[in-house]
Amino acid sequence: MVGDIDMPFPFDNSYASLPEAFFAPANPSPVSDPAFIALNRELALDLRIDPDKLDSPEGLAYLAGNQVPDGAQPIAMAYSGHQFGGFNPQLGDGRATLLGEVLDKKGIRRDIQLKGSGPTHFSRRGDGLSALGPVIREYLVSEAMHALGVPTTRALAAVWSGDQVRRETMEPGGVFTRVASSHIRVGTFQYFAARQDHENLKVLADYVIDRHYPASRDSENPYRAMLEAVIERQANLIAHWMSFGFIHGVMNTDNMAVSGETIDYGPCAFLDDYDPAKKFSYIDQGGRYAFGNQSKMAHWNVTRLAEAILPLLGKAEDEAVKEAEGALDSFPDTFQNAFQKRFTSKIGIAEEVEGDWELVQSLLSLMHSNKADFTLTFRHLRDAVGDGNDQALVSLFDKQEAIREWLGQWRLRIQKEDVGTENARDLMMKVNPVFVPRNHRVEEAIQAGMKKDFEPFHRLDKVLRNPFEEQAEFADYEAAPKADEIVCTTFCGT
Ligand code: AMP
Ligand code: MG
Repeated sequence: MVGDIDMPFPFDNSYASLPEAFFAPANPSPVSDPAFIALNRELALDLRIDPDKLDSPEGLAYLAGNQVPDGAQPIAMAYSGHQFGGFNPQLGDGRATLLGEVLDKKGIRRDIQLKGSGPTHFSRRGDGLSALGPVIREYLVSEAMHALGVPTTRALAAVWSGDQVRRETMEPGGVFTRVASSHIRVGTFQYFAARQDHENLKVLADYVIDRHYPASRDSENPYRAMLEAVIERQANLIAHWMSFGFIHGVMNTDNMAVSGETIDYGPCAFLDDYDPAKKFSYIDQGGRYAFGNQSKMAHWNVTRLAEAILPLLGKAEDEAVKEAEGALDSFPDTFQNAFQKRFTSKIGIAEEVEGDWELVQSLLSLMHSNKADFTLTFRHLRDAVGDGNDQALVSLFDKQEAIREWLGQWRLRIQKEDVGTENARDLMMKVNPVFVPRNHRVEEAIQAGMKKDFEPFHRLDKVLRNPFEEQAEFADYEAAPKADEIVCTTFCGT
């Protein structure tokens, strides 16, 4: 069977060759009665996997965890993590199994991981399974984030398991296939740091440099360069999230990938009305991961990364600390610059000049005090440019006088751009989506899915593949939730 040309996954594994301390061998547990909910054929092609081979009883068996494909080396990865500020030295993949890696069409190494495929060495008291709800949420939201242009893990498949899992009540189970440029987290570094295993800490850092940050190798201090690169990607990522009103919800250090991809779509949500203090997650009672706290928390997380790699940053401790601080100091400015750039673009300004940031802030402040819908405000601003129609925008605000006054100032500013209103509109079309995975729509897809009706899931998935384009037949997906549709709380569902 080895080297079989029928092998559906062209595996080329590297993580499984790292020292034993990095993982525990794992074997997916079979499920009773698997059926495809979704198969991402386009992503399969990107991964150099023949989608027709996956779309078969054999392919389903692989993606349900009922059969291990040739070339796979199933493992559960070891990691630690700070969860809501408290350190847990031993987390690891408790309900996920890394099947292996493939080199995609661009030659980029991508992990293929099953989520919800049964217990592993790291399951502690968990069952290693996934309820259907989180599978549907992760599929929809991670693919929507990709369509929005945000770096993210991807969804290759969602499978109905045919088994029930015990949560608050008994619920249908699912298996999700996640694709990531790697599953290495800040918590993976913390795992070795917590064990004072400096040898493996270095092995991990070297692996991360080779896989994600090869340019760091040429630097005088490659580990500092790696840290700086992670910091830069994270600061940019958070600004990118926020520009679409995304709230991750559980930014623990085990849920922050060092690649700079968004990972772990547990209790995530999108803002309806704008409120920087907004949080949805049931377990985030204190609002640690509220919308407006996300950059602070990302800075906190990369600080934990810097601490973990201190032994690599310099020979003497004070020297290492200086390197760490030097790198970490760049976070606030990198974030702020990216954030301003994203939000000035959202109001149609390509080159920020003095006063522009204040213009953005005054809009955000009006949106907040008027409980204006985040996505709709910017979406209708696209139409209000020039002598366009203000009505849809203005009607989102209670105090219409104030928003009209703001629009007046904004128009004066846009006219001053060399490029004028046409380019402002073009710019806004690229950064202000018409469609985001609104919480009530995701919930609707989940509730139907639990009854084995996947129509709402597929419709939503389709709409979200072209988030910046108006789609007349799906216009109702633009709307904010009605009072009785508002989702106030999200759950991890683990
Ligand atoms: P999360 O909050 O989803 O990032 O998960 C935190 C930790 O709990 C990770 O180590 C997971 O592998 C583990 N975990 C979450 N759900 C389960 C489950 N159902 N069974 C076993 N481990 C789980
Ligand atoms: Mg996690």
